[in-house]
Amino acid sequence: PISISDPIEEHRICVCVRKRPLNRQELTKKECDVVTVPSKCVLMVHEPKQKVDLTKYLETQTFRFDFSFDETSSNEMVYRFTARPLVETIFEGGKATCFAYGQTGSGKTHTMGGDFSGRTQNASKGIYAFASRDVFLLLNQPRYRNQNLDVYVTFFEIYNGKVFDLLNKKAKLRVLEDGKQQVQVVGLQERPVGCAEDVIKMITIGSACRTSGQTFANASSSRSHACFQIILRRRGQMIGKFSLVDLAGNERGADTSSADRQTRMEGAEINKSLLALKECIRALGQNKSHTPFRESKLTQVLRDSFIGTNSRTCMIAMISPGMSSCEYTLNTLRYADRVK
Ligand code: ADP
Ligand code: MG
Repeated sequence: PISISDPIEEHRICVCVRKRPLNRQELTKKECDVVTVPSKCVLMVHEPKQKVDLTKYLETQTFRFDFSFDETSSNEMVYRFTARPLVETIFEGGKATCFAYGQTGSGKTHTMGGDFSGRTQNASKGIYAFASRDVFLLLNQPRYRNQNLDVYVTFFEIYNGKVFDLLNKKAKLRVLEDGKQQVQVVGLQERPVGCAEDVIKMITIGSACRTSGQTFANASSSRSHACFQIILRRRGQMIGKFSLVDLAGNERGADTSSADRQTRMEGAEINKSLLALKECIRALGQNKSHTPFRESKLTQVLRDSFIGTNSRTCMIAMISPGMSSCEYTLNTLRYADRVK
């Protein structure tokens, strides 16, 4: 048995990469796996077998991240090195965020929300659930047990710059910013939860709400950011907040040349929010006084997580292994590389 101790290194920003295995469809098409993940991430392009011009990729590119996870890693393993080290932050009056970034189909929802293969979601096996489980574990430890802490969760979606409550039938919500730059999502439902099982119910309800009425070909979930939050309060006062975000597919940012106006607008919005996110995380990492959070709804809503001395962030860049995803995989790796 191999025992791996949890990382103890204190850093405000952690950037990781996770590669998913080739799926059945890709195996049937005999796609080749072009990504190798040792301690650093290497994108290798093998001899072209398909009729695609690969000349621009033919050299091997190497990227470095805090951690990288290969196709054999489990959600629990990924969790342990990414979101797990951030859980304490919210007990210490801080804000934590964890982002799943990547192309549609690269494994963002699988990692965050749990596996959906088959008809039902295994919501207990994703990072939302693991983080909630550990919040309750900590809450019941002697040092926190008598501190009158209450746990709440919210779950909302940002689609084309608008916020929808996934725990309240996709009610459309307004975002207000007061004179002190405090940002509030008006009417967002905060559900009290008493144990990890309560949270799993909320994840299941919210996830079903997110994907209801969608056809795969036109899934708006690939064009929306989903944000699940765990909030700690003492007598109503917020102590800490953990935001776990399943971002829109980054390839949608390239929809700006689509023939369809709506698709173009949505693409531009996604592009804007992912760029703003990168800049906000960089500002946090570099302790900059100016954070460009107003550039998008996503960063505006998460504003308080990008400021303050006790804010920590983790980004998990998800990548598909296949040759046909090469270009987007490179984009994802380049983006993640620049966050830190
Ligand atoms: P995304 O949310 O990024 O669009 P999904 O999480 O929906 O992608 O993943 C696409 C498909 O790949 C799903 O069927 C999912 O179950 C599967 N998948 C993703 N990551 C993994 C993984 N690490 N191991 C096994 N299957 C995975
Ligand atoms: Mg998804």
